Amino acid sequence: MAEIELMEALPSPTRFLQAMGVPLPIRAELEELEAWWEAEGKAISAMIDRMGTPWLRAYDRFGHRIDEILYPPDYRRMLLQGYRAGAVWRAFEGEGLAATFLIGYVTAFYDAGLYCPYTVSLATALALRKYGDPALQARFLPPLLRRDGEVWQGATWMTEAGGGSDLGATVETVARPEGGHWRLTGEKYFASNAGAELAVVAARPESAPRTVRGLALFLLPRYRENGGLNYLIRRLKDKIGTRSVPTGEVELQESEAYLLGRPETGIYEILEVLNVSRVANSVGSVALMQRAIAEALAFAERRVAFGRPVLHHPLMRRQFAERIRELQAAFALAWTTVRLLEEVWPEHPPYSERYHLFRLLTHLAKYWTAEQAVQTAKWAMEVHGGMGVLGEYPVERWLREAMILPIWEGTPHRQILDGLEAMARKGAHRALFAWLARWSDPHALEEMVSRVEAHLQLSPEEQEARAEPLFRDLARFTAETLARSLPSGPAAS
Ligand SMILES: Cc1cc2nc3c(=O)[nH]c(=O)nc-3n(C[C@H](O)[C@H](O)[C@H](O)COP(=O)(O)OP(=O)(O)OC[C@H]3O[C@@H](n4cnc5c(N)ncnc54)[C@H](O)[C@@H]3O)c2cc1C
Repeated sequence: MAEIELMEALPSPTRFLQAMGVPLPIRAELEELEAWWEAEGKAISAMIDRMGTPWLRAYDRFGHRIDEILYPPDYRRMLLQGYRAGAVWRAFEGEGLAATFLIGYVTAFYDAGLYCPYTVSLATALALRKYGDPALQARFLPPLLRRDGEVWQGATWMTEAGGGSDLGATVETVARPEGGHWRLTGEKYFASNAGAELAVVAARPESAPRTVRGLALFLLPRYRENGGLNYLIRRLKDKIGTRSVPTGEVELQESEAYLLGRPETGIYEILEVLNVSRVANSVGSVALMQRAIAEALAFAERRVAFGRPVLHHPLMRRQFAERIRELQAAFALAWTTVRLLEEVWPEHPPYSERYHLFRLLTHLAKYWTAEQAVQTAKWAMEVHGGMGVLGEYPVERWLREAMILPIWEGTPHRQILDGLEAMARKGAHRALFAWLARWSDPHALEEMVSRVEAHLQLSPEEQEARAEPLFRDLARFTAETLARSLPSGPAAS
């Protein structure tokens, strides 16, 4: 596709999606959502970001614990836009999972942090649908799928104070069976969408081993059956970005919970939840890239230096062309994970080869797109020169928001090492290369295959130590090859 056409689509997330050639079964709804963001949402989102950490009202005036998170009413209005449009319920309707990611793309173009509540609510609903027994589904799924202001939110809480990477060692939350449900006691240290009506949490049944195999997945309602609070919010985190989702520390004290799936396969269920979020993180990262490039373009077209708009200087012109090609490649990688997720999400372990391909692509996409979002946001700031660092314009915000994308849902180290594991133990690279062969240059493909195969012959210690350059190059190669698979084709230089 001509670079000029893509440039024209940059200010609008819906137009960009259309330019990428993805099917848009809900195009009118996306345009409506976008129009709302332009008319009202942008200003609300900027205000929420400027307000900083939301307040927690822990007690009412009579000394009762209530743990209410105080946002201005406009926040709720902003939040409801995506739920109404179908950020969760559409996954269970005709348009399917991909439609929820389209809504996520439009949302993240305007507010990357706000995409988090939708993502964790979707991940909660999918886990409940897949692993909850019929009675549990009948009780808890309908409120998550409501289309009005009464919609319930979900959350996904795994990380504890000891760290989020090594869950097998660090999850201390204990689960004890009692009657028809379980009692959970422990603390969750990074709990986004604190205050959600339902959360899926990792916990260790009493007497289960202290490894990842000892973890199970539970559904935790906000309120106990007797109406009391089922979890307490100790405090809210003061974050550099994503302030439109409250992230807190949560205490579980003999909290009522329901087992999802089976304890023996709990770790797979937990990873499935995380992988939904990683796909969404990739989609959100690309949307943030688009926004940052669009803002940079709008500035560079009008800012004059050395007698012409800075956009028209050869160095700047070339940089824009490269950023647009990288945006397109990042989009192709992220959107491929969406399509594969849609295909494989009904699978249960032991997974198919296709599922392992999905896993590898998800690690590549999470790693690559988040890093690209950070680099693009930094570059957009540079294009704005000194104006870029001032708090009064939106540019510095994209960098603050972008900095969170590589860390939550698993750091780059985690993506690299888990991606390596998918190749070393499951041979997922073979499926990847077979798939990419249609669009790749045979010599470049052969070189990549040899590098990966040679790497997998190294000792385990060396494989880990030298993994980063290989994984980075594999991610770039995969993204650029997939860009050729888009109906729109790669941007011409
Ligand atoms: C804004 C925000 C919101 C979040 N919301 C949630 C949430 O809702 N639910 C939730 O469960 N979690 C949430 N998290 C936590 C997030 O998932 C973790 O921060 C992340 O998984 C990393 O864990 P950690 O911060 O404890 O770092 P650690 O696990 O302590 O790791 C520290 C460093 O060591 C590196 N490292 C670890 N193992 C290795 C290794 N084998 N080789 C090389 N390097 C390694 C890590 O990559 C990292 O750089 C959130 C985090 C943030 C920032």
